[in-house]
Amino acid sequence: MKKHNFSAGPSILNQKVFKESSNAVLELDDIGLSLLEISHRSPEFVAIMNEARELSLKLSGLSSDEYTTLFLQGGASMQFLMIAYNFLKTRGGYINSGTWSTKAIKEAKLFGDVSEYASSKDKNFNYIPKDYSISDNPDYLHITTNNTIFGTQYHKLPDCNCPLFADMSSDIFCRKQDYSKFSLIYAGAQKNLGPAGTTMVIIKESLMNKICREVPSMLNYKVHFEKDSMFNTPPVFAIYTCLLSMRWLKNNGGLAEIEKKNISKSSLLYDEIDNNEMFTGFASKDDRSIMNVTFNLIDEKYKSAFDVLLKEQNISGINGHRSVGGYRASIYNAMEIESIEVLVDTMKKFKKSI
Ligand SMILES: *Cc1c(COP(=O)(O)O)cnc(C)c1O
Repeated sequence: MKKHNFSAGPSILNQKVFKESSNAVLELDDIGLSLLEISHRSPEFVAIMNEARELSLKLSGLSSDEYTTLFLQGGASMQFLMIAYNFLKTRGGYINSGTWSTKAIKEAKLFGDVSEYASSKDKNFNYIPKDYSISDNPDYLHITTNNTIFGTQYHKLPDCNCPLFADMSSDIFCRKQDYSKFSLIYAGAQKNLGPAGTTMVIIKESLMNKICREVPSMLNYKVHFEKDSMFNTPPVFAIYTCLLSMRWLKNNGGLAEIEKKNISKSSLLYDEIDNNEMFTGFASKDDRSIMNVTFNLIDEKYKSAFDVLLKEQNISGINGHRSVGGYRASIYNAMEIESIEVLVDTMKKFKKSI
């Protein structure tokens, strides 16, 4: 029986997407060949790449005159260094809202000065930093819009006069928002888009003229841009699967609809956390994520009893990250509300059993 998969990543995809991508491995669109055995320069794959790049902009409401999309490799972690390599001329600006931001800051320091304007480390990253000023004209400001491990998410963007860059690995396309506030957005595919193996980068074309030093080809945004994201062999399976997920989003009402769905899913679970005296939420209420819901038992002595119930209900991948403990329910776009209802019922049942 299929489990209710709350894994933080790699994570759930829509079932139809799994089927279609599996079919394409056997035979792509009746062409008599597998997706995996055709040239990435073939008309069939070029069409896939073009559609994926166009659809990512269409979903975000961004103009293709101003923005371009690249599908790169090396994960979101490679973007930590690529951003600084290409764009940190005098100073990179960062807000530290968790483990991933911390890693991005560490990489940037290899390339020049870094200003960390604010951090929520004082409370184990259970909130999004808010009161700070950006005073020293950074080349860019980097934020992590959703903190996968801690379950916090920006609901209001910082004001800044410089290009805004964002790691959206765990909340890309989870809501409708003004994506034009960003100059560069990146997301490792394996949280909310597709399989591990590619990173989607949406970038303002004007940034190509801001690359501030000699950068080796593979790490140079302009090289990938000028070759239409095909400088070398792209990860064809990962890109095709991302395209299928984006088609699924588009055919189901786009980002406005998925946002409604994500808000009802997360509200259902947060209401239970707030009303069930066996649990407490981890993230500060104003900053709660609609993608990763973190919560703890009021007393760890109940853990094995609750874990037995979770297992009985086929609930999988829900243990919290070791830096937070407790539980983390990752409820990405593809998760259906039925799975959250099963979790909520299990929490209610648990309370009754104590
Ligand atoms: C998972 C994750 C990463 C790391 O992604 P990789 O593709 O494994 O490098 C970076 N940032 C955020 C916000 C993540 O959730």
